Amino acid sequence: MNWKTLDDMELNGKRVLTRVDINVPMENGHITDATRIERIATTINDIKSKGGSPILLAHLGRPNGKVNPKLSLQQLVPTLEITFKCPVFFTDNPSRDWINEKPSDAVILLENMRFNEMEEQNTPALAQFLATLGDIFCNDAFSTCHRSHASTVGVAKLLPSCAGHLMQIELNALKSALSNPLRPVGAVVGGAKVSSKLELLQNLVKKIDTLVIGGGMANTFLAAQGAELGSSLQEPDLHNIARSILATADAENCRIILPRDGRISTIFAAHAPNKIISLNTQTQLKPDEMVLDAGDKTTEDIITEFRSLKTLIWNGPLGAFEIEPFNTATMKASKAAAAFTLSGSLITVAGGGDTVAALNQAGVVDEFSYVSTAGGAFLEWMEGKKLPGIAALL
Ligand code: AMP
Repeated sequence: MNWKTLDDMELNGKRVLTRVDINVPMENGHITDATRIERIATTINDIKSKGGSPILLAHLGRPNGKVNPKLSLQQLVPTLEITFKCPVFFTDNPSRDWINEKPSDAVILLENMRFNEMEEQNTPALAQFLATLGDIFCNDAFSTCHRSHASTVGVAKLLPSCAGHLMQIELNALKSALSNPLRPVGAVVGGAKVSSKLELLQNLVKKIDTLVIGGGMANTFLAAQGAELGSSLQEPDLHNIARSILATADAENCRIILPRDGRISTIFAAHAPNKIISLNTQTQLKPDEMVLDAGDKTTEDIITEFRSLKTLIWNGPLGAFEIEPFNTATMKASKAAAAFTLSGSLITVAGGGDTVAALNQAGVVDEFSYVSTAGGAFLEWMEGKKLPGIAALL
């Protein structure tokens, strides 16, 4: 995978179409978290320091191909100007002439790409038009790379293209986790359902040495082997698939760690009365009982495993982490992974929406080697899929 980076491009005097992820959360027209804007500053400043002029291509929310003033990128201009410390010129009607009139040290921002239905359909006419606006294309929005859109894939095929800094960091982290990891490599895959992580599990068991299965999906694996788990979250339709994943893991020498104890309750609520019980394929819970978290012995198993790993991929919580005390296993195990990372014995790469929330709750996001906020794109990479936005840069 030898995509070009900003360092490989001659940027002096060039207009650089730069696909960024500034899809920030907003409330009543105010940005509630500007992290995504702050993170792209390195790429913007680098382009400018090399004599290039960035033209930002981005989206906000889900306008579904229609103009929606509430999702206009114009409202981000003041924050962009403060962050980049330069004027930001906004337009919903760009042309090369209009762009050429602007000072070369300014940043230009085009209106929400997804206001135009041709964006998500990757219509060639839109990509061709965008290509007339710039000389070089730089993609710094890894989170959009699993989609073939005009501003991620179409235009990349028409102009000399490269990856921005954030994209480079993300790709290097993902490569170090799965393509070329220090071994042994393990993964924690938790969360609600096997069905949403089927392809992830199927890909991982072929590539890694140990797989920890947690959360609601562990219930499906235990039930598939005979356990009766009362009202626990589980997917009976997936018992065959769960057994086939276990068989593949066995054939591929991937060790599976399933919970051997769990915290159960009859009520799905914070501080509900609960107890820890042993879990195995013979377990029979009462109809109203449910497993809501891994137990202490399982957590110890997981932490012991971390001690022998060199690389760890983490996606999904080990229990219903939003409600105490069913966050206990996720908190303890993620803090242990963070401590091993800090001591230099473990590379930790995590991603996926709820995973970031769980690691935030544990206060370990900054201690993991890399935490990806690109939900869908992170998962598709881990599923072994070719991401069109990355392929288009090659
Ligand atoms: P996912 O989006 O698939 O990563 O799933 C995350 C969700 O799974 C979180 O909302 C957790 O509360 C939920 N979850 C994890 N384990 C359990 C469990 N044992 N029972 C019910 N919900 C769970």
